[in-house]
Amino acid sequence: MSDTDSDTHDPSALRTPIVAVLGHVDHGKTSLLDKVRGSAVIEGEAGAITQHIGATAVPLDIISSMAGELVNPDDFDLPGLLFIDTPGHHSFTTLRSRGGALADIAILVVDVNDGFQPQTLEALDILKRSQTPFIVAANKIDTVPGWNPQEDAPITQTYESQSERTRQRLDENLYKIIGNLSDEGFSADLYWRVQNFQRNVGVVPVSAMTGEGVPDLLAVMMGLSQRYMKEEMEIDVAGPGVGTVLEVKEEKGFGTTIDTVLYDGTVKKDDTIVVGGLNEPIVTDVRALLQPRPLAEIRTENRFENVDEVGAAAGIKIAAPDLEDAMAGAPVRVVRNRNLDDVIAEVQAELADVAVDTAEDG
Ligand code: GDP
Repeated sequence: MSDTDSDTHDPSALRTPIVAVLGHVDHGKTSLLDKVRGSAVIEGEAGAITQHIGATAVPLDIISSMAGELVNPDDFDLPGLLFIDTPGHHSFTTLRSRGGALADIAILVVDVNDGFQPQTLEALDILKRSQTPFIVAANKIDTVPGWNPQEDAPITQTYESQSERTRQRLDENLYKIIGNLSDEGFSADLYWRVQNFQRNVGVVPVSAMTGEGVPDLLAVMMGLSQRYMKEEMEIDVAGPGVGTVLEVKEEKGFGTTIDTVLYDGTVKKDDTIVVGGLNEPIVTDVRALLQPRPLAEIRTENRFENVDEVGAAAGIKIAAPDLEDAMAGAPVRVVRNRNLDDVIAEVQAELADVAVDTAEDG
């Protein structure tokens, strides 16, 4: 917590870590995201989560009430977690920042019965190359034969209430996953045995269906971010915004818009921005900043709410002229009081990075 002396203006603040979910098809990426969002809503009623464009923010107090004893809010000063809504490695590989991954941290979902599959290996390869810290969610523990479910319970609690035989079956599958990770060069263990999450990958048994292990998953992600990524989360809250284009979309009444994940600074209405384009950087002025309208307020045709300013980390739809040639995965930078040519040069340099990475992917 920062002290609240209103006279001392501290321009740096900690932003929300950006979380991506990866894994093989049908292993439960979407279900896990839905579970986290759904439980957050139940826990905090209205306002528990903030729906962004392409992302969902879960604040620390809600994470803490979902995780119970596992997360004491006093131990953290990061404001929560921002989950990218589109799971899978296509969006992950497109979403880059300064040549690295846009996501600060990832969850690799592995079906505990199905184990490693081709896309699990692909995802691991991507995580390795982008050097993104990750944890493994060993999902669908409720499908282990003989499982006795305990809704939303921490894993240690639910593990103890299983029969000996069921526990053995789960353990066998978990150790197979740990072995597979080791074959790929990752030293891994069950998360409660991991001392240093920078060196070892933590495996968290979960069920996206019953919510078991979800408290642990949230606790491990918060802990990992707080402990090892705090410096990277320090941003200039009032500085010119920096982000990545998630998607380029035609929007009725607004023309071509870019759905953007902002990871530094702010973007304001009327700001001049530079966006990576097919041929050259696009220089344009923000005409509107759009966020999804809260569900309760959807009564008009317009799904979006106009806002004047947005701060990182956030997902935002930017409407501006001349965005037709903007590209998914390209950088977005606010110019504000900086030299326009410098900003254009930065965007060009980042685009070159993206092009090199894409060539490597192909
Ligand atoms: P994705 O392709 O990785 O996004 O996987 P989905 O989230 O769409 O899940 C694939 C299927 O597995 C769906 O039928 C889900 O209902 C089911 N599923 C996902 N998680 C769990 C789980 O924890 N337990 C059980 N029993 N089923 C699950």
